[in-house]
Amino acid sequence: MKTMTCKELAGACDVEFHAETFDEMAEMSKKHAMEMSGDQAHIDAMEQMMQLMKDPEATNRWFESVQKTFESLPED
Ligand SMILES: [Zn+2]
Repeated sequence: MKTMTCKELAGACDVEFHAETFDEMAEMSKKHAMEMSGDQAHIDAMEQMMQLMKDPEATNRWFESVQKTFESLPED
């Protein structure tokens, strides 16, 4: 299992997610963002993400860098 925080996944807090694969990690972060949709910091973070997603190339770059971070993490 690998560990990443909400912040490392373009979120707004230090909650940790534990997952085997990057897809799983992304899924957990998405679910968390929805659970936190009443929290202003998370709303801001999500809006920033939406802005980024308007640019597919920037989105790809972001996604690749986060995926690389995930891959470089040690297994728990
Ligand atoms: Zn969070």
